[in-house]
Amino acid sequence: MKSGIKNLEIPVDKIKGVGTKRKKVFLKAGIKTVKDLLYFKPRKYIDRRVIKKIKDLKEDEEVVVMGKIFTRGERKTKDKKLFIVIIRDETGFMELVFVNAPYMKDYFPLDKEIIVSGKVKRFGSIYQIFHPEFEILDRENHDLIHAGKIVPIYSSIGKEIKPQTLRKIIHEALKQFLNLIPETIPEDIRKRFGLLSKRESIKNLHFPSSYELIEKSIYTLKFEEFFYFFLKLFIYKRRKTKAPPFILPSTLTKKFLDNLPFELTESQKKAIKEIEIDLSKPYSMRKLLQGDVGSGKTVIAIYSALRAIENGYQVAFMAPTEILAFQHYETILNFLKELNVSCDILTGSRTLKEKKEIYERVRNGITQILIGTHALLEEKLEFKNLGLVIIDEQHKFGVSQRARLLSKGESPHFLVMTATPIPRTLALTYYGDLDVLTLKEMPPGRGTVETRVIYIENRDEFYRRFFEALNNEKAKAYIIAPLIEESEKLNTKSCIELYEELKNKWAKDISISYIHGRMRKEEKDEIMLKFKRGDIKVLVSTTVLEVGIDVPDVKYMVIEGAERLGLSTLHQLRGRVARKLEKGYCFIFCSKDMPPETLKRISAFRNVQDGFKLSELDLKLRGPGNILGYAQSGFFSFKFGDLVEDKELLIRVRETVKNLLTVDPFLEKGENVILKENLSLDERLWLTEIA
Ligand code: ADP
Ligand code: MG
Repeated sequence: MKSGIKNLEIPVDKIKGVGTKRKKVFLKAGIKTVKDLLYFKPRKYIDRRVIKKIKDLKEDEEVVVMGKIFTRGERKTKDKKLFIVIIRDETGFMELVFVNAPYMKDYFPLDKEIIVSGKVKRFGSIYQIFHPEFEILDRENHDLIHAGKIVPIYSSIGKEIKPQTLRKIIHEALKQFLNLIPETIPEDIRKRFGLLSKRESIKNLHFPSSYELIEKSIYTLKFEEFFYFFLKLFIYKRRKTKAPPFILPSTLTKKFLDNLPFELTESQKKAIKEIEIDLSKPYSMRKLLQGDVGSGKTVIAIYSALRAIENGYQVAFMAPTEILAFQHYETILNFLKELNVSCDILTGSRTLKEKKEIYERVRNGITQILIGTHALLEEKLEFKNLGLVIIDEQHKFGVSQRARLLSKGESPHFLVMTATPIPRTLALTYYGDLDVLTLKEMPPGRGTVETRVIYIENRDEFYRRFFEALNNEKAKAYIIAPLIEESEKLNTKSCIELYEELKNKWAKDISISYIHGRMRKEEKDEIMLKFKRGDIKVLVSTTVLEVGIDVPDVKYMVIEGAERLGLSTLHQLRGRVARKLEKGYCFIFCSKDMPPETLKRISAFRNVQDGFKLSELDLKLRGPGNILGYAQSGFFSFKFGDLVEDKELLIRVRETVKNLLTVDPFLEKGENVILKENLSLDERLWLTEIA
């Protein structure tokens, strides 16, 4: 069998009736192959199995009638304008009635065949259907495809390919290719899960013989989609890439642990042990460290970095914002004072000269840890021997960025960290190729944070009292300016405006300042330093503060425009306060008449502190694409399956694939060969690369 047929990767214009013109339209809509087309899901179905003759109609019945357009025109009643189409079949006439819809005229060419459905009404001796579902039929073959069965209704493709044309094309594609589609799931699994065969599922997706079969075929297609997703994932995951084992003695790491100013939590100790074991193996560690805001991930990162360095390798440590990168840089310098490790920082704001010097040091292996932002992805940056990649706040980066940083080493170990705990289903898919390690505990000394909703109507009153209170205590506060779209420029503006308003109106006697992502680095440093020291009491900011920032004694967080922020952002922001205080407060500004969805989100945020629970809720409320941000949303393009709705199935399929690979790791037994045949060449190679 030709491999093109195997995966149905056949260009669409091989289908009769698809020429260069239609091919172009399809391509524009992302439909390249017969497979893409056969996987194009109908928007809905109409039951046209029984076609009634006009003489047999009865009032109030739901019916399908087929006939020819006899005449049409407008009719006025006292208060409405009606547009009437009269159709006829061999047994009589009936009317289609459209109220106040004069534009309908163009839709009904005289003498054309038409099929209509809807509820029958009676007007004197005439039967009528108001606003019927209707379709004008082309001449050829229509009774085979468009009527007498459950008929698929597709969305149009572009302006050019109408639902009915598409139905014809898909019908033709099935005629030509259905019998060439090979099976994709072994029979025993199909039996166990009550799946259709591949051919049946594709056929019934488009031209089902019953509603039950539509459901079964969609279930089968979901199953198949999840099945191959996990099959590939597991094969990829178990394939071990060689990496340098870090086995030399703990010269630096021991000193680091001995000098820590605090006792590690049990979670942290466990994480360190696990990472140390992983790094000692001759293949690449791929680890996701997740832990709620403030759970102490940075220490783990530094430990891992030192493990690489004491084994003679370099480390790249990437963070999503400049402020955060600098914070890590300082933390590391602080921890490493006595360790004699050379550390550099590379961000967009460094001068060309500085950059060149850093590139040079990194290339020569002088720099041992390079911390930075996206600037680390620049092509000119080359390492001498990169042994470990660390990515902080991984959810702010895309999958391709991760890959790009990794490609700077021969085959480095990597550790990605996130404070956005993700629900299990997402962890299984998006982070499916990583081992997940979770910090379950918080370091001692963290305070509780009380969350209060402030209605915008009371904004002035709130600020008056808030600043009055601040005047009388030593507390520090963050105030987050409203997010104005994904535009940095606008957000910067709203941050400065808010600062000026507050300063002039309420905060005359209080040291207040602002910070945003577009400031020069020196300015940002100075402000953060002053804020840490307490020379600045109130810091107005954009949501750049969302990630990572660690000033332990901030008591208040005020969030303007909270309604526009997602749960994870809100949670991250709240996690910035009361890190080393007994109690903190988070005030969120909302309007009184929030839409129900927003209200749900806001009340969830108010009542739930636990990051994991919040992320589960977030997934339910907003769907997976939004949670990880647009950078990754493309990843979730399951055509049939849905990560929220089909959670149970997803987990069952995952178990099935896992067991199958345990019993038959090379896919050689019985019908399992089918699976191998449906993998790409690369994937089949991975299959053999078990360590
Ligand atoms: P996150 O997990 O959000 O990145 P950080 O690593 O920034 O959290 O840690 C938050 C704060 O807690 C830092 O000031 C850090 O020094 C401190 N910290 C980390 N581990 C412990 C611990 N075991 N005991 C006390 N404080 C700790
Ligand atoms: Mg952090």
